[in-house]
Amino acid sequence: MITFLSGGTGTPKLLRGMQKVMDRHEISVVVNTAEDIWISGNHISPDLDTVMYLFAGVLNTDTWWGVRNDTFTTHDEITWMGLEEFIAIGDRDRAVHIARANMLRDGMRLTNITKYFCDRFGVRENVLPMSDTEVTTRVKTELGLIHYQEYWVRSKGKIQIEDVVRCSKTPPASTEEVIQAVEASDVVVIGPSNPITSITPILECSGIKEAMKDKFVIAVSPFVGNTPVSGPAAELMKASGFEATSAGTAACYKDIVDLFIQDIRDPVEVKDSIRLDTLMIGEEKSIELAEKILQLANRN
Ligand code: GDP
Repeated sequence: MITFLSGGTGTPKLLRGMQKVMDRHEISVVVNTAEDIWISGNHISPDLDTVMYLFAGVLNTDTWWGVRNDTFTTHDEITWMGLEEFIAIGDRDRAVHIARANMLRDGMRLTNITKYFCDRFGVRENVLPMSDTEVTTRVKTELGLIHYQEYWVRSKGKIQIEDVVRCSKTPPASTEEVIQAVEASDVVVIGPSNPITSITPILECSGIKEAMKDKFVIAVSPFVGNTPVSGPAAELMKASGFEATSAGTAACYKDIVDLFIQDIRDPVEVKDSIRLDTLMIGEEKSIELAEKILQLANRN
């Protein structure tokens, strides 16, 4: 069994390859939920949805969010009515958000809701939200402290970030299911996700770091030079006091990681790292990288 820590783009690209080279029942994924947001009365969990749709075979892999060939009738209608919905939500995607919101209002745990959807979608992998505690990543900007989605989607990442803050009523705790998955794993893989908004929120949940202590932990860098492959990781790293490079990523995971993987093209040197082609420009590349990481994991 391998447990992966995932956000909603970089690690899912790796998981796309992993599901082809591993027994799918041997894959557990602990997914970031600090980007979750309520919109139009419904509960969006962007990273959970992406991972679940990927394994269900319905993910739009052009954008890495939403359902492939979804329609946007409800979103268009809401917008036509003059109401703001700053994330374009597809109709099938929205059905999941509506159902999840109702289940949460009924007091169900996010872990059980996710399991329910995964069963409905025929997902064979073990998909786990990092916590059942609601926690939100906010960024400090000239507009005040705003939700990460408002920064990245509504403002298109065009405003300066001064700080990154995690907000929750009670300190987030890893679930029993997350701890069991890590304990049952030989290896934990931190995929090439955003260290600040996707991976750190998972690691901040109480219990997981202790569970990872005796595991062989592999991390893949999302940076090539001082640029992430996609998204706002550089701005978030700088605002959190880290260099926006693979070296900064390695520093962010200091004391947790046993093996650090960076891209063959990366001009930044991280001591003792392994160099692989990590640019997953298509399914073939994801499979190739997955195979190599699996070899490294099995060598341990
Ligand atoms: P988010 O939740 O949508 O932000 O997604 P993640 O945190 O899972 O992934 C975002 C990170 O994935 C970005 O920092 C990218 O640099 C990284 N990324 C995306 N595609 C690739 C890829 O093919 N290779 C590598 N190494 N990193 C990637």
